[in-house]
Amino acid sequence: MSESTALPERAPKITVTGLRKSFGTNEVLKGIDAVVSEGEVVCVIGPSGSGKSTFLRCLNKLEDITAGHVVVDGFDLADPKVDINEVRRHIGMVFQHFNLFPHMTVAENIMLAPVELKKANKEKAREQALALLEKVGLREKADARPASLSGGQKQRVAIARALAMNPGIMLFDEATSALDPEMVGEVLQVIKDLARSGMTMVLVTHEMGFAREVADRVIFMADGVVCEEGTPEDVFGNPTQPRLREFLSKVL
Ligand code: ADP
Ligand code: MG
Repeated sequence: MSESTALPERAPKITVTGLRKSFGTNEVLKGIDAVVSEGEVVCVIGPSGSGKSTFLRCLNKLEDITAGHVVVDGFDLADPKVDINEVRRHIGMVFQHFNLFPHMTVAENIMLAPVELKKANKEKAREQALALLEKVGLREKADARPASLSGGQKQRVAIARALAMNPGIMLFDEATSALDPEMVGEVLQVIKDLARSGMTMVLVTHEMGFAREVADRVIFMADGVVCEEGTPEDVFGNPTQPRLREFLSKVL
């Protein structure tokens, strides 16, 4: 399905085939096929409850896959022998709620994974944390506690933290949905900069203007399937499926 729009000369970073996910008897993902190429920015949109978060969580095995395959950088997540910690080094994830550790400083939050998982030495890890904070415009907050930051600043720290393992892929699940409106822009700007830097990204978002601007491809999910996908121009400007039209009429 996605072959028509994926750029063939770029290597696939994520290949999803026949992905199904059930919770008990509730089948939430009903056979999803998708390819995300290197450097591609894919936005996933769709009604609440359509399975967007579950789909994203299957991409880094926060959920076990019921059937089908998810291959990330050559690792098949359906293979029980796959080292999930190794896979997660390739994928950073940012959630709606930032989940920073309150008893640690901003820099310590960012250093945690590199120090614990990669066993990077603390000095190097702090140097890198400061560079990442510079990137998200928060260098001066390195030694502050998360509680002293605004929601937008916390989310920018969460993005820096996700980048600390040098992932080749970043997943965002409604990263701006919990923010006060005046803070949405600063976080979207950081995400846009990341997109422009060539990061491979899959974003679930309710920000249609943002999706239109930064996405190479938009996937519309409804009821656990990919209902329509294409360029932002196609999906927003020339929707063909009635469900997509109905959805857009409510959100645009
Ligand atoms: P979306 O992100 O599009 O709003 P979700 O992926 O969060 O949708 O949820 C899709 C469906 O899966 C919902 O019906 C939800 O109740 C169900 N679901 C999600 N996570 C779980 C879970 N851990 N246990 C049981 N049901 C779940
Ligand atoms: Mg969701």
